[in-house]
Amino acid sequence: MSFVPIICGKTDWDKEYAQTAQYSSLYCPNCHNYSVRPLKRKEFIAIWFIPVFPIFWGKQLVCPICNWRQDFKNDEQLQKVVHEQNNIRQAKTGGP
Ligand SMILES: [Zn+2]
Repeated sequence: MSFVPIICGKTDWDKEYAQTAQYSSLYCPNCHNYSVRPLKRKEFIAIWFIPVFPIFWGKQLVCPICNWRQDFKNDEQLQKVVHEQNNIRQAKTGGP
């Protein structure tokens, strides 16, 4: 009788959400850099490096500097975040 080990792991994909400047360089509440961007993310449980079972499928705001992440549901929610951030930025710089 032989034993074949099953290699079980996790694979994930990050895909660019949108190529617009509006959504890039958002404020990160964790490390205080303007480096956060939205991504489409998929995480799977993988057996023998073949993805078999999804454990996360959604959209996230991601900071590549400190690895901060926050889920968001749709465009509307993202727009709201962008809008709020613009207000904060204008208040700080004293812009129009
Ligand atoms: Zn950060």
